[in-house]
Amino acid sequence: MSKEQFRRTKILATIGPATDSAEMLDRLIGAGLDNCRLNFSHGTYEKMDEFIANIRKAADKYGRHVAIVQDLQGPKIRLGDIKDNYLEINEGDDLILDYAVKEHDGGLTIPVQYNLAEKVKVGEPVYIFDGKIRTHVQEIVSDTAIRLTAENKGFVNSHKGINLPDTDFSGDIFTEKDIRDLDWGANKDFDYVAISFVQCANDLHTLRKMLEERGSKAKIIAKIETKGAVANDEHMEEIVKATDVIMVARGDMAYEVGAEIVPVVQRKLLQLCRKHAKICIVATQTMASMVDSPVPTRAEVSDVANAVIQGADVVMLSEETAMGKYPLETIKELSNVISYVQDHVDVTELPQLPQGDNPDYDALSNAAARLAERLDADAIICQTASGATARAMSAQRPKMPIYTVTPEARVANQLSLVYGNRAYVREYTPEFGLELAKELKDAGILTPREGRDHVEVVIVSGDKNTTDTIKLRKI
Ligand code: PGA
Ligand code: MN
Repeated sequence: MSKEQFRRTKILATIGPATDSAEMLDRLIGAGLDNCRLNFSHGTYEKMDEFIANIRKAADKYGRHVAIVQDLQGPKIRLGDIKDNYLEINEGDDLILDYAVKEHDGGLTIPVQYNLAEKVKVGEPVYIFDGKIRTHVQEIVSDTAIRLTAENKGFVNSHKGINLPDTDFSGDIFTEKDIRDLDWGANKDFDYVAISFVQCANDLHTLRKMLEERGSKAKIIAKIETKGAVANDEHMEEIVKATDVIMVARGDMAYEVGAEIVPVVQRKLLQLCRKHAKICIVATQTMASMVDSPVPTRAEVSDVANAVIQGADVVMLSEETAMGKYPLETIKELSNVISYVQDHVDVTELPQLPQGDNPDYDALSNAAARLAERLDADAIICQTASGATARAMSAQRPKMPIYTVTPEARVANQLSLVYGNRAYVREYTPEFGLELAKELKDAGILTPREGRDHVEVVIVSGDKNTTDTIKLRKI
């Protein structure tokens, strides 16, 4: 039996109309999809309930733990309903965006889902429909309406997004809809909650508190896509420290900050996340052409390769799996690119060792990684209750698989987002790491290197709530 290909950078796919059937979710997870994102900008609660049930069912079938992400819309501002779903706009047109208007009469007064009059200032840029219509604020017309002048010709449809790169939303990024979605999601089976358009670390403290108040065990994802968030390196580092996961949200970031900034910010955030032993997701347009095509472009393959070499924990798919024609092919292509690249190029070295929340775990996992490398071990085994040991281990970016055993299903799901880590849920015993290694060997998942007749593992363990021991075991 050939050794199972162990892919270290994970895949997170957005679930949508193209992938929302139980059968499709089963096929995607069967093909190696690691994690699912439910985008709360779209869809009903009934649908979300159905997705969660179908994802868990498929994961169970394959004996895997999949993280499910509740992605909150945040202050993503959208147009309202447009008459006949189409409005032509000419250069020089005066547009009114009015929160109080619910029905569009076909003219240039357009309903909008957010009261911009409370936030914007005269002179600020407002980009409609992914930057396709560029405008600046001319006047705050009333308590609910603003006037903009279109700077180019084009058209808009209902519910198209609006980007306001210079408008200050700080301290107030959670909308009424987000709070409703949080209330609804708190006792659902979510492993992570993502918040869009984060401005500063405080937004994450707020989210953490809101989740705690609602009794949720979900960890948090900060979506980095505003000018405020990427203002300078120190500010980004504060955000990294305050969150569990960073998402390099390249889609909106390109409109809000500028496309040329995106690769630079991606590199910085990946380094900061690795430094602080946090998880980093590289998102959006990863394989965008595969919405309509069964094969990716060279540029897309190269972009994914770059993320893998930079040590990304996760690459994310959006339209490709939400509404594309080839969701299954996209997972397979992406998986193939990641596997090939990880086997042929080393992850870029960090200038310093990772320093997570627990210095003991950092030191111990560094020693374990060196030991495993020196002995050419077949795997590293982690025993963990909270997941912290396993995350510290992954932050070292070892080349061999990290198999983690935990008594907590939630922790195992959450670890599905972590580089090089695969988690199993077993009842706690002091030796459940060694027991897992034997089980994986018997199952043919853990096999000896060529030229060796036994499996060698490095086990990182401890008592129930500490990690203080490295053991070497030949099985
Ligand atoms: P979105 O976030 O798909 O929810 O907008 C990702 C991004 O902006 O890149
Ligand atoms: Mn976004």
